[in-house]
Amino acid sequence: MYVDSVPAIPGFLLPNSIRKYPSQAAHHDRTGEYPTEILKKAWEVGLLNLHIPGEYGGMGLGVLDCAIVSEEMAYGCTGIQTAAEANGLAEAPVILAGNEAQKKKYLGRMTEEPLMCAYCVTEPNAGSDVAGLQTRAVKKGNKWSISGSKMWITNGGKANWYFVLAKTDDKASTGKAFTGFIVDADSPGITVGKKEVNMGQRASDTRGITFEDVEVPEENVLGQVGAGFKIAMGAFDITRPLVASAAVGLARRALEEATKYSLERKTMGSPIANHQAIAFMLADMAIGVEAARNLVWKAGWLRDNGKRNTYWASMAKAFASEVANKNAADAVQIFGGNGFNTEYPVEKLMRDAKIFMIYEGTSQIQRLVVSRTLLDAAKAGQTL
Ligand SMILES: Cc1cc2nc3c(=O)[nH]c(=O)nc-3n(C[C@H](O)[C@H](O)[C@H](O)COP(=O)(O)OP(=O)(O)OC[C@H]3O[C@@H](n4cnc5c(N)ncnc54)[C@H](O)[C@@H]3O)c2cc1C
Repeated sequence: MYVDSVPAIPGFLLPNSIRKYPSQAAHHDRTGEYPTEILKKAWEVGLLNLHIPGEYGGMGLGVLDCAIVSEEMAYGCTGIQTAAEANGLAEAPVILAGNEAQKKKYLGRMTEEPLMCAYCVTEPNAGSDVAGLQTRAVKKGNKWSISGSKMWITNGGKANWYFVLAKTDDKASTGKAFTGFIVDADSPGITVGKKEVNMGQRASDTRGITFEDVEVPEENVLGQVGAGFKIAMGAFDITRPLVASAAVGLARRALEEATKYSLERKTMGSPIANHQAIAFMLADMAIGVEAARNLVWKAGWLRDNGKRNTYWASMAKAFASEVANKNAADAVQIFGGNGFNTEYPVEKLMRDAKIFMIYEGTSQIQRLVVSRTLLDAAKAGQTL
């Protein structure tokens, strides 16, 4: 039996002789069990909550540093990596807009204990159309009361606190109609739905969450009332390059698995790697990995150097997620019938890859961002 591998050192191919480690990734994929112990270990060795600044107990890593970590974790399992990265997504709005007390309390907590948190924006009737969110927050005395339903929330059932985007002004334009809140997950009125059974990334915990008159103190408003849309979208400049780097990790895993297999599998008296049709597929897969990684690193480097990276973050997310899907499908093709079977590692990659084109903004939404930026610049007589 072909045993699912441990992550390889970049640039090196593991021989089958050391493929003896029990595969945690395959176990969590098969059972859908949340990888609590792995995440605890990741927290202990400093692989979670990487952006939290030093003053709140974190490492304060930049986007490029985090992209390197995210690619490696995703190489092992993108389901487990997504569970880890969802912390970064929920923390980003607090890092961007939180005051000192909020950062100390909610970011500090994440560095003191292995906790998870979640970013609650999407709803059953509104994902891409953030302006269409229905969850409302109403001021009652010195508190806010939140009511509404969120859907597809990663870490939904495991979070200690949530970032929640809710409408606070029906008459205002989208940019001013929403407010971001930090909500403790044990607040009365919160109902967590069942774990959704998804096509891939099954280690990750995705749920619907209902808020029914959930009381939130004024001190948990993030930034200004009405600034929530900007804060929630601003988080993507940090997190989209990291989703993209995870897609690169999957694409690289597909390439390495397919390369190894092509050297072992023989047809017509020769390893299939010697057939040009296969060799050229491998070449295209390698080109995709390098090109996607370079786009990701550019998006990260720009952000780390104080430059606006929205355009490149969207390009990286769109491109890397499509490379991941292509490489996973090509790896299955190179494995032939074995590729279609769960005893081999590549069918999981194909199932896991699809979500990269959907969450944190679909590929179509990334193209909206890229094309609008491009056209606005052109109309202003600028180049990007
Ligand atoms: C496993 C998983 C985990 C997730 N985790 C989170 C999370 O932690 N937090 C969170 O808030 N959300 C999360 N999401 C939600 C995710 O971000 C949304 O599913 C995604 O943004 C798409 O929204 P939608 O599902 O409503 O699709 P829709 O917006 O209904 O889109 C349907 C289709 O129409 C296309 N489309 C929509 N509008 C346009 C347009 N203007 N132009 C062109 N095409 C368009 C889309 O690209 C898509 O192909 C998660 C989703 C999944 C499946």
